[in-house]
Amino acid sequence: MAHEAIVIVGGGLAGATAAKTLRAEGYDGALTLLAAEARPPYIRPPLSKEFLLGKADEESVEVVPGDWYRENDVELLLDVRATGLDPGSHSVRLADDRALPYSKLLLAPGAQPRRIPLPGAELEGVMTFRTFQDSLKLRSLLADGGRKVVMVGSGWIGMELAAAARTYGNDVTLLGLEDIPLSAAIGPELGGYFRRVHEEQGVSFRLPASAAAIEGRQGRATAVRTDSGETLPADVVIIAVGVVPDTALAEDAGLELSNGILVDAGLHTSAPDVLAAGDAANALHPYTGEHHRSEHWANALNGGKVAAKSMLGKDAVLDVVPYFYTDQFTVSMEYSGYPSLASGASPVVRGSMEEGSFIAFWLQQDRVVAGMSINQRRVQKPIKALISGRVAVDVGRLTDPGVPLEELLPDDNQP
Ligand SMILES: Cc1cc2nc3c(=O)[nH]c(=O)nc-3n(C[C@H](O)[C@H](O)[C@H](O)COP(=O)(O)OP(=O)(O)OC[C@H]3O[C@@H](n4cnc5c(N)ncnc54)[C@H](O)[C@@H]3O)c2cc1C
Repeated sequence: MAHEAIVIVGGGLAGATAAKTLRAEGYDGALTLLAAEARPPYIRPPLSKEFLLGKADEESVEVVPGDWYRENDVELLLDVRATGLDPGSHSVRLADDRALPYSKLLLAPGAQPRRIPLPGAELEGVMTFRTFQDSLKLRSLLADGGRKVVMVGSGWIGMELAAAARTYGNDVTLLGLEDIPLSAAIGPELGGYFRRVHEEQGVSFRLPASAAAIEGRQGRATAVRTDSGETLPADVVIIAVGVVPDTALAEDAGLELSNGILVDAGLHTSAPDVLAAGDAANALHPYTGEHHRSEHWANALNGGKVAAKSMLGKDAVLDVVPYFYTDQFTVSMEYSGYPSLASGASPVVRGSMEEGSFIAFWLQQDRVVAGMSINQRRVQKPIKALISGRVAVDVGRLTDPGVPLEELLPDDNQP
């Protein structure tokens, strides 16, 4: 294998997990990880939660400890961006014009915050949120409390940042295009639940509303003007209106694209020996038979593992039940399932929404296609088993907290 050279573009969770898996699987050839950021690969979920709130340290966000790369003979090139890809000659071009040959290449470039053409977006105090540096900066802006914070965007990141900002004692107003926050992701019933949680903690909503302009004085943001003409005073404005997959290299190389880099279930792109994983990859999911691009932590983790095995010629497919989580105020949420199958279905609830401890299930006929647990421990395994096993359930028993979820599973399908 000495002549082999695997190159990974993207020093995030998917890229670093792929490197780790390659070594764990016994690959001992040359391995280069190109990371456009100056910091070794880190996980992003804590950046809008415990790290932002000062409850987690820098080491806790590393994908692997800093020494791991050297100890495992992985050439980690920090602050180095791949700028071109030629699948024909099997080479990647770097920003300094060097060409790096590969036998297998993994594209794991992640996603970038979506930018919107908003007058005043360049003012000081206005920011998007994606990186470790963004989290440090926002913490310094929020930590003393007493600021007026306007969040543009009512998706997961907007809601998490609103919760953190409020927890620090800031005055928070959240604008979103939906009537109910998160309703595109989890439907109006559960979106309404999250809205109530935020309102009880003092977050204000303007829904549906969009920002028309950010006003400022002497280069600093002072207010957000909404499309209805309302002026919301603001010291800090965060634009959290989703992300776009980073497809620049793939596009440059003529790879097939569709809502990201199109890949099969083994994460192979349309170019030979080029794979893609993580936020940037739109993968065929064997369960639904459809392509699905996920912007969640577990997808990057599992995708990194599958891509590594595929690069080694193993028969690997990304077929785990999609999973994600969020923490907002005292709410700890976990979700497993297929949003595309759940969309449109009305959830059934096990437990008490009022008491903030329950599971919402979405069903197609009598089969669970998604399950979201709020402040419940150790229920995600049986939920995933119900989904992946396509188990027919009795709704009365499913929603009865007295019936352990494991009892709904056939004996040969226990988690
Ligand atoms: C603030 C925040 C909170 C989140 N919270 C949650 C959560 O609670 N639960 C959950 O499930 N998910 C969460 N996510 C989503 C999760 O973090 C992402 O799905 C995950 O980071 C995707 O990993 P990735 O490796 O595909 O991409 P990324 O983490 O984006 O990493 C890609 C890396 O590649 C680099 N790169 C890009 N192009 C190049 C190039 N040409 N050359 C070299 N390097 C390049 C980028 O700079 C970046 O560092 C959160 C995301 C954010 C931003």
